[in-house]
Amino acid sequence: MKTSKIIEYLDSLFPNPKCELNYNKDYEFLIAIVLSAQSTDKRVNSVTPILFNKFKSLKALKMADANELENIIRPVGSFRKKASYIKEIARIIDDECNGVVPTDRDKLVTFPGVGRKTINVFLSEYYNVPAIAVDTHVERVSKRLGLAKLDDDVLTVERKLQKKFDKNLWSRLHLQLVLFGRYHCKAIKPECYNCKLVDICKEKKKNLFD
Ligand code: SF4
Repeated sequence: MKTSKIIEYLDSLFPNPKCELNYNKDYEFLIAIVLSAQSTDKRVNSVTPILFNKFKSLKALKMADANELENIIRPVGSFRKKASYIKEIARIIDDECNGVVPTDRDKLVTFPGVGRKTINVFLSEYYNVPAIAVDTHVERVSKRLGLAKLDDDVLTVERKLQKKFDKNLWSRLHLQLVLFGRYHCKAIKPECYNCKLVDICKEKKKNLFD
């Protein structure tokens, strides 16, 4: 009952949810997700056109001068670490994966800077594999709505969401929860006065009367 109300409301707010990272190729998307860690999609979208215009292939990226990469991606933060990830990711895809980002989770997890959340986002968006990536928005909203406990770790949140929602909804739900957390159920000053889930929300009182 609670889950159908959530789905209904999210469908009304986001009937066509889309990932907000821009990309043209599989490896560009994977790298964009890696760059988005501890950053925002907006910032990532401001650097990736410069990055992929300057380095137009996996070969160019793996051979790129580290300083040049760092200067381009500086706005997204942790730029030294992320520049080294980009070079190594490009090398692995080019040298070991025939130039194609693999669908194999066991292979993907060996890529530097690529963890479970990144893999879920990539597989779900690019290859339509049912998956729920639990980022900061998904975690916060799930806990506020009582879909998970406050002290659950991200893997537990993911498992609980998988149990509560049909598999064919997972990828769409992930996008909707991200957008809901980003634009409505924000970390600070969520828009509870305007939210139709207020009666099932664990945090509404606190936020409504702050
Ligand atoms: Fe988020 Fe407020 Fe809605 Fe609860 S009532 S889900 S805290 S916006």
